[in-house]
Amino acid sequence: MNVPFLDLKAQYKTIKDEIHAAINDVIENTAFAGGPFVAKFEQEFAKFCNCKHAIGVGNGTDALWMSLVALGIGAGDEVITTPNTFIATAEAISLAGATPVFVDVEEKTHNVNPSLIEAAITKKTKAIIPVHLFGQMADMEPILTISNKYGLYVVEDACQAHGAEYKGKKAGSMGTTGCFSFYPGKNLGAYGEGGAVVTNDDALASKMKMFRDHGQAKKYYHDIIGWNARLDGIQGAILNVKLKYLPAWNDARRKHAQDYTTGLSAVKDVIVPREADYARHVYHIYAIRVQDRDKLMAYLGEKGISCGIHYPVPVHLQTAYSFLRKGEGSFPVAEKCASQYISLPMFAELTNEQVAYVVEQIKGYYA
Ligand SMILES: *Cc1c(COP(=O)(O)O)cnc(C)c1O
Repeated sequence: MNVPFLDLKAQYKTIKDEIHAAINDVIENTAFAGGPFVAKFEQEFAKFCNCKHAIGVGNGTDALWMSLVALGIGAGDEVITTPNTFIATAEAISLAGATPVFVDVEEKTHNVNPSLIEAAITKKTKAIIPVHLFGQMADMEPILTISNKYGLYVVEDACQAHGAEYKGKKAGSMGTTGCFSFYPGKNLGAYGEGGAVVTNDDALASKMKMFRDHGQAKKYYHDIIGWNARLDGIQGAILNVKLKYLPAWNDARRKHAQDYTTGLSAVKDVIVPREADYARHVYHIYAIRVQDRDKLMAYLGEKGISCGIHYPVPVHLQTAYSFLRKGEGSFPVAEKCASQYISLPMFAELTNEQVAYVVEQIKGYYA
């Protein structure tokens, strides 16, 4: 049996007619950059996240970077985040001109360990970026207690967590801003690049709307130095079609995750992901941890099962960040996880047979 890691075509087939009609609409209306289709999606996505505003941008990295710039964070400032993330979280901090300060993660959630944050705060610290890795939110209550105590902004990296919840609160709605990516493989993916920032702060929302469109509120009158970080019209229309299916797609991911977990719990060599008591996990990634990752991955490959690794090298050990001089041993939990992760096939359209087959093959490998 063949089990791809991700099958975007399977999803496309279920919504093909609607997608083509939506694209056609944008072309007929020549609403290519920003415009009414983006505005409509922004309205719907804000509602979905339980936030007042959503601002469509070019991608998730833009969303993170623009949040920091709009909050006035730049040269000389420090921003706390984790090394157990995709590089973009740290890049956004660096490109804003600030310095990333890493804090290790909790083993049970793979997200920032709140009890280690205070020790990393200095006079230069301006913000914390909790990353809701794999679709499970970071432990936001203690993070917000600390941010309130020290007067820090909280920018949620919700790029993997569309629709995830913390005690019933939506990802993106608890921080100063929440940042989303609509990269094609994300739980809500465009047919190209896309991203959004959500916030409840009116002034910040206006500023970010100007910023993403060259600092103008009125065409050719530029009040601030901005950038071109607009969401394109075709992506806005496509995302609007797909958003209404997201809850059902997330439910399907949760069902597959539950089946994986039930099937693999008895395998003592496999550590399965856990859903925290506070969380509704949306399983962007279903990552197990094993000692002999490369061998297992090769074995599954031979059986027709494609897996991924998210991510093989934590950010502090990437060459690009060697200047921070945080060598091996700096963040032991993140380093251990990176050496053990293996991401199993995960997308809404997986069949029960495919999930059962993956479980069976992993059990077979360890038997
Ligand atoms: C995907 C992702 C991003 C970046 O989003 P892009 O749309 O690819 O720029 C940032 N952070 C995390 C955790 C991501 O998974």
